[in-house]
Amino acid sequence: MKILITGGAGFIGSNLTKRLINGGHDVIVIDNLLRGNKIDKSTFEKINFIKGDVRDFETVNKAAKGCDVIFHFAAVLGVDVVADNPVETMDVEVIGTRNVVQAAEENSVSKILYASTSGIYGHTAIENALTEEVLVDPRTSYAMAKRYNEIYLASHHEEKGLNAISLRFFNVYGYNQDNRMVVPRFFEQAKNNESITVYGSGMQTRDFTFIEDTIEACVRLMDVSGLHIVNIANETEWNIKDLANRIKTMTNSTSEIKYIDVPKKRYDYEVERRVGSSDKLRKLVNYKPQTTLVEGLEKIHEINR
Ligand code: UDP
Repeated sequence: MKILITGGAGFIGSNLTKRLINGGHDVIVIDNLLRGNKIDKSTFEKINFIKGDVRDFETVNKAAKGCDVIFHFAAVLGVDVVADNPVETMDVEVIGTRNVVQAAEENSVSKILYASTSGIYGHTAIENALTEEVLVDPRTSYAMAKRYNEIYLASHHEEKGLNAISLRFFNVYGYNQDNRMVVPRFFEQAKNNESITVYGSGMQTRDFTFIEDTIEACVRLMDVSGLHIVNIANETEWNIKDLANRIKTMTNSTSEIKYIDVPKKRYDYEVERRVGSSDKLRKLVNYKPQTTLVEGLEKIHEINR
């Protein structure tokens, strides 16, 4: 298949690019490279790379020509980056997605897989793992824009029959991730024997999903048609304190684990608990993320050694 990936040089995008190239697909990547290029050299040689911005319609429209599927992953992300750049975040989401949808329609691309976020659930109370049916509670520019786009895609499905799948990723971690996110940040701190900075009590939980499992889910979902919102979650809760301790032990680090106040700009983003159900994913493609957090951390540690 011929596949366009916006944001294909980012963390999830670059891992997906590599997987699709290895699977024999034709891959076109659009990325503005503002926050780096994570595509390795041998993969880069095999793709059609366009340095450009999803906010520019002509760039997206040209790239979408002849494509069967678009993965729309271009986004501003990382709590600190988003909090510092809320307007850019919204622009990239709203204008970028409108351009991708319009380009898909003009070029008869019938399917878009869009990177949404589990951040959309916000402070939704958790009794059981979050399913796609619960009432969402987006409170940040990032989560609001992601939710808006889920609805925008649904509207295009209703009006024009576009196949659209919104992927609600749960704290994806793995190779080639930069320290905007907690897992690589703790690894870096541990490796340098610097303090491992746990925000708040460290009792807040997240559902960490390994990159290989995330990519497997994305690839399988390429075969699904219709309109769907799908959690990609590991279905396991880990608290941040235990994560810090595990990384410290694994790396034989002498770092102190330091509990510090949650930085002010993170207030709106910080939630006490997050764990997702992958039931719907399982029903759609007979798959759910497999790798435990400990196995995933070991794999990263092995490669970084
Ligand atoms: N976190 C932390 N120390 C750090 C970075 C993050 O304790 O140096 C915590 C953060 O407060 C949150 C969790 O780790 O509860 C996950 O943070 P991240 O920014 O990776 O993702 P989020 O779930 O906030 O989008």
